[in-house]
Amino acid sequence: MTASATRVLVLNSGSSSVKYQLLDMRDSARLAVGLVERIGEETSRLVHTPLTDGGGKRERTGPIADHEAALKAVAEELAHDGLGLDSPELAAIGHRVVHGGLRFSAPTVITDEVMAEIERLVPVAPLHNPANITGIRTAQAMRPDLPQVAVFDTAFHTTMPESAARYAIDVETADAHRIRRYGFHGTSHAFVSRETAKLLGKDPSEVNVIVLHLGNGASASAVRGGKCVDTSMGLTPLEGLVMGTRSGDVDPAVTFHLERVAGMSTDEIDVLLNKKSGLVGLCGDNDMREIRRRIDEGDQRALLAFEIYIHRLKKYIGAYYAVLGRVDAVVFTAGVGENAAPVRAAAVEGLEELGLVVDADLNAVRSDAARLISPGYARVAVAVVPTDEELEIARQTYALVNA
Ligand code: AMP
Repeated sequence: MTASATRVLVLNSGSSSVKYQLLDMRDSARLAVGLVERIGEETSRLVHTPLTDGGGKRERTGPIADHEAALKAVAEELAHDGLGLDSPELAAIGHRVVHGGLRFSAPTVITDEVMAEIERLVPVAPLHNPANITGIRTAQAMRPDLPQVAVFDTAFHTTMPESAARYAIDVETADAHRIRRYGFHGTSHAFVSRETAKLLGKDPSEVNVIVLHLGNGASASAVRGGKCVDTSMGLTPLEGLVMGTRSGDVDPAVTFHLERVAGMSTDEIDVLLNKKSGLVGLCGDNDMREIRRRIDEGDQRALLAFEIYIHRLKKYIGAYYAVLGRVDAVVFTAGVGENAAPVRAAAVEGLEELGLVVDADLNAVRSDAARLISPGYARVAVAVVPTDEELEIARQTYALVNA
């Protein structure tokens, strides 16, 4: 890497999509952002937005066969803006990798051995790790000389004590199959808990925070002095809160009941709980804007879905309050957490005894900035902190290659 190499490309490769951002780490400025979706279909689409002077959004539609073709198309778009991947200014490529197991507690330069370990984790992340691996391989083929860094969704949660991470099942069986709670959205929980400390004017080591990452996927975490001590997602991202399409917590016996009584296969139950449950299963919609609109029109199904969503959220706030003992802030982030004021108000309603209060006027403000929504007198801060997983991946990648 040359001294002038200050750019980092962040790649988030899904099974049929690639999200990307190119950042200049001198000032964390975004130079370009984009998305390739429906890879492998006839109707693939690339949306590229250069954020340098004079840039405007560009779109390509038509078949993009695979991740290699997708990344080539991205490279062409970047080159068009004078930001090509062959530039000596590119310092590294940072990859979001969903599952790092217990081995990876920090960002890691990708070697053959690291790749082999990410592959070994495919059985515990069958939907995510294969796509991440494809993205890494493609990027390596394009720039074999460049450091490629894996930033793991699970890493922030590796500080969880065994009491929180272990399921109470037979230890030999659990260990043989690496069954334990890993947690996900770690990059977001790390970023948001740190930014919350900053908002409070404190060092992360001084504060205890409950982070509520409420997007289409949703998870809560309890962070003590900057370290995660519990989180709501488990072996997979299915456990915990009610999500857009995932059930979150259910009695595990539901699965064998469905097998024995409803004659459903394991794969069908997997699809039911991951894709057809949560808000969509309860009321047919997973977009909180639509659910709120329906509630305003008197729709009872939408109202019940909202109430179930809030009930679960409240249970986790209470549980993590007890886990932490002392809480300095409860913070909302991601699509729902950052935008849905009624969710924030309902989640802490009635929790005044715990020191949790939301100021209605502050809560109603729409803003992209990190902000407090609790009144000045509140014992516990309630905050909204926009998450930025790409910036966090870029920061961690850049710090590692400059270490
Ligand atoms: P994410 O996964 O973080 O991108 O969050 C996506 C979800 O955020 C969507 O499914 C919506 O439910 C929710 N969302 C986005 N914008 C709004 C908004 N203005 N009001 C309420 N919910 C929103």
